[in-house]
This record gives sequence, structure tokens and C-alpha cells, in this order.
Amino acid sequence: MTGLPFPSVRGESRAPEGTVGLPDQLGRVARDLRVSVTDRCNLRCRYCMPAEGLPWLAKPEMLTDDELVRVIGVFVGLGITQIRLTGGEPLLRRSLVDVVRRVAALEPRPRIAMTTNGIGLDRLAQPLADAGLDRVNVSLDTIDPQEFADLTRRDRLHDVELGLKAAAAAGLAPVKVNAVAMRGINDHSVGDLLQWCLDRGYELRFIEQMPLDAQHGWDASTMISAEEIRERLGERFELTPLPAADRGSAPAERFLVDGGPFTVGIIASVSAPFCAACDRTRLTADGQVRNCLFSQRETDLLGPLRAGATDEELAALIQGEMWRKAPGHGIGTADFVQPDRPMSAIGG
Ligand code: SAM
Ligand code: SF4
Repeated sequence: MTGLPFPSVRGESRAPEGTVGLPDQLGRVARDLRVSVTDRCNLRCRYCMPAEGLPWLAKPEMLTDDELVRVIGVFVGLGITQIRLTGGEPLLRRSLVDVVRRVAALEPRPRIAMTTNGIGLDRLAQPLADAGLDRVNVSLDTIDPQEFADLTRRDRLHDVELGLKAAAAAGLAPVKVNAVAMRGINDHSVGDLLQWCLDRGYELRFIEQMPLDAQHGWDASTMISAEEIRERLGERFELTPLPAADRGSAPAERFLVDGGPFTVGIIASVSAPFCAACDRTRLTADGQVRNCLFSQRETDLLGPLRAGATDEELAALIQGEMWRKAPGHGIGTADFVQPDRPMSAIGG
């Protein structure tokens, strides 16, 4: 393959003969597949993309719908029970409703979720729900129009609000909202965002900013930590931690807000990583399997698939990629190297 904008190292590895499902050498088993259906986006969030100039994948380098559904079917055969469609902005893939319908027809039927910036969801929420989408996370970092425009570099807050409303109306419940706080941009309005979500019944989760931006501008010293979010929210709301036993492999620490019933989640992906309980794997829009957001290597399925590989051969490649999964992401250690692919091309 030539001309790819994200030149990650490609390489194969093998799981032991007779391996069933998607275990790694530490005993973790992947059950949750994140699928990036496009690397394109209509926003330019500062923690994700540069203001301009990020090259998109060329269409011939991307999995077609038939290829995508076939590969997802191979993952389902390997024990994946949850598919999350993401990107880039997944709603920009024109065939998305059809892809959801076809994934929902797989046996055993996986649960299907999507992470979206919400733009266009006002039109697509109902068709997606009808096609089999079960749940949605909408990314929204602030409800202040000026802060929104500053953070995303686009004036589209109203579209996101309409998208959220449509998701709730289509029954994609519980509607979750994902937020990243950036110092000096939206860190002082986290309480306003929580109140806004509580008023509408949306479940808010904050996530620490990770070093996955295309421009490699992440800086540990400016990151707003989970602890800091908790302190800021604590100035305005009473937060009661829910028992850790309720958490499983879910990364968010959850708190009852003002005695409940609503909750807020805080994901300390950098300061208190949950790698030891990780059950995720990832497929990029150009057919690469990644065992971690932070992998330096990935396994190519697109080439073998187009060269006539059988489902069993694709399954063995996927198992090999999972087998070599590292114990943790290593952010903050001396050896940490940010991956070539940005979040928008891996799939968040
Ligand atoms: N465009 C869709 C969206 O924004 O929801 C889906 C793709 S986006 C890459 C998926 C999630 O990753 C979003 O919730 C976004 O806020 C989050 N994200 C992007 N870059 C991030 C970063 N550097 N650190 C933490 N989260 C990030
Ligand atoms: Fe686009 Fe999502 Fe990245 Fe924002 S976080 S630029 S919406 S892909």
C-alpha cells in the first residue's frame, strides 16, 4: 500500500495454535470493537485536529461497505459483542444507515453504538435507530456558543443541540454526552455543561485529554486532570462515588449528582489508566486492526482481503494483532511515543 497519510508500522504476529476468541498474553479478552468508518470530519476540535491541512484517506484505500461488513462479521465470529461506530465523523459516511442495518443482521447480533459530534443527527437519528443502532454518545464540550466555536473552530453548536434532541426522541437512550476540558477554553464552564445535561436527562462523561492530536501539541502540564474536573464540579454539585464494582471494564468512574438519580462520569484515561481491564480492539477505515489507541504497530486486513484471504485467514491475522497487545499505554513514561495516526484516523 502506498501514499497513506498515516505511515504506522505494519507487522504481523501470531497467536498460539488453537486460540479461541481474542485473548492477549495477559489474559484480557477483546469483546468491544471500535470501527472508524471514515477519517473525515466537519469540525476541527483543538484536541484532535489541526486548524487545517490534515490529508484524508483516498477512497480506494478505504474498506467498501461489503468489505467493512465482512470484516465486522469476522470479528463477531471471534467473540465481539459490542460494535461502536466512530471516526472521524461517522455520520459523514453516506452509507451509514445501510451499514448499521447489515451489522444488525449479523449472528449473534452485536449491540451497536456510535460516537458522533451530532451534526446531522437531527435527520439521521430515527433512520439509524430503525436500522438497529442501540445507543449514541454525542461529543459536546461546552454549551457556550463562543467557547464551542473556539474549541471546534466551527459555529455549529445549534446543530449539535438538535442532534441530541433527535437522538432522545428516537429512543437512543440513555443519550450520553462526551466532553473534554481544555485549560483556558472550556475548563471554567464544566459545571454549566453538567447542569445543562441534567436538565435534559443526558448522561455526561468527561474524559482527560490524551496525546492523540494530529499536530502533536498535547502537554501533560496543561491537561485538565480527572481530579481537577471532580474538584470543579464539586464546587457546585454534591458528588457521591458509585461503587467501583459496578464499573467492570467501563472506564468511567461514576458519581451520583446531588443524591441522584442522575450521574456524571469522569474518565482518567491518562492519570489513572484502565488498561488492565481493557476489552477493546479497533478497526480503521483503511482496514487496519489496532489492539490499542496508542499502538505503534497495526495489522493490515485490506491487502490480504483484496488478495483473496478467507475469513479464517483474516481471523488469524486479527488474533495475532490482539495477542501482542501491550500491558498499558505508557503515557508519561520516558519511552512513550505518540502514534502516527491521530485520534480522528484511529477512531475514538
Ligand atoms: N467525531 C466523533 C466525535 O467527536 O464524537 C467521533 C470521533 S472522535 C475522535 C471520538 C471521541 O474522541 C470524541 O468524544 C472526542 O471528544 C474524543 N477525542 C478526540 N481527541 C481526543 C483527545 N486528544 N483526547 C481525549 N479525547 C479525544
Ligand atoms: Fe471531528 Fe470528533 Fe475529532 Fe472533533 S473529536 S475534530 S468532531 S473527529
